[in-house]
Amino acid sequence: MNVLVPGGAGYIGSHAVKQLIEAGHRVVVVDNLCRGHGQAVHPKAAFHEVDLADTPALTALLREQAIDCVMHFAALAYVGESVTDPLGYYHNNTAGAISLLRAMDAAGVRRMVFSSTCATYGEPEQTPIVETTPQRPINPYGWSKWCVERILQDYQAANRDFSFAALRYFNVAGCAADGSLGEDHEPETHLVPRVLLAALGQLEKVTVFGADYATPDGTCIRDYVHVDDLCKAHIAVMDALRPGEARFYNLGIGKGYSVQEVIDAAGRVTGAAIPVGYGPRRPGDPAVLFADAAKIRRELGWQARWTDIDTIVATAWNWFRNHPHGYRQPRNIKSAAGR
Ligand code: UDP
Repeated sequence: MNVLVPGGAGYIGSHAVKQLIEAGHRVVVVDNLCRGHGQAVHPKAAFHEVDLADTPALTALLREQAIDCVMHFAALAYVGESVTDPLGYYHNNTAGAISLLRAMDAAGVRRMVFSSTCATYGEPEQTPIVETTPQRPINPYGWSKWCVERILQDYQAANRDFSFAALRYFNVAGCAADGSLGEDHEPETHLVPRVLLAALGQLEKVTVFGADYATPDGTCIRDYVHVDDLCKAHIAVMDALRPGEARFYNLGIGKGYSVQEVIDAAGRVTGAAIPVGYGPRRPGDPAVLFADAAKIRRELGWQARWTDIDTIVATAWNWFRNHPHGYRQPRNIKSAAGR
């Protein structure tokens, strides 16, 4: 298939591009490089530096490249930033998706796999979270993605040959098993990379955001799904989509690890004593979040291959110790104050 990948220079998008190419697809990446890295784009993918807001440029590309499917990753994804810059989030994530859909509409491209998020569920009353758990986002990031899910449903209802899947990610972690791609955010706010940057001495310490939760060790529990597994699910979904379908899947491993367990795993994997501090809770953090991923297993046979936290962290460590400054030159990670 000919696949357009907006956001193909980003963390998850670049891993998806690699897998698409390895599966024999022809890939065209569009990215405005506001967060992504040109070096992360697979050499066999065509690359166009285009902003999602540029509907005419997207339309032209979709037509010229005879695109069959769009795998849409391009988005801003920091919860804290979305609270202080909601317009930026609705502009990039929601209006950007509308622009892309308009281009697809004009070019007659009828299939989309969309990166959604478990943040659309907000603070669910119970876990594990199933796809029918009520969606009540609690921050602009979650709402910006929720809006796109809503828009896709309405667009699909009016265009019966259009199909889409919204994939609700839990905590994506790890790096390409072959060491070729990694995770490089500026600022870095996510737990696994921050723990590894602390192991490298680039971060003075990793602060645990709350150790007084009602969990066995008092720290928050999350579902860490490996990026390679996650990307495999995208390809399985793309292959399965038939005209007129609207699919929704949770992507997680179906069990949770606590912040303390992740830190302990990183200690074992790196052999380093991870410097840890304990701070207050981060606003908006529910105690426990993990997926019920039975639906995609039942319907498409996908399930995460990597469910052991040491293995997941080890793939990330493989990248971080070989690329201590990511895709770029030395960064000032110490200034990244969580979120
Ligand atoms: N966390 C933490 N210290 C950090 C970064 C994250 O204690 O420096 C916690 C965070 O409060 C949450 C979990 O680790 O409970 C995962 O956070 P992350 O930001 O990686 O992903 P999120 O769950 O927000 O998508």
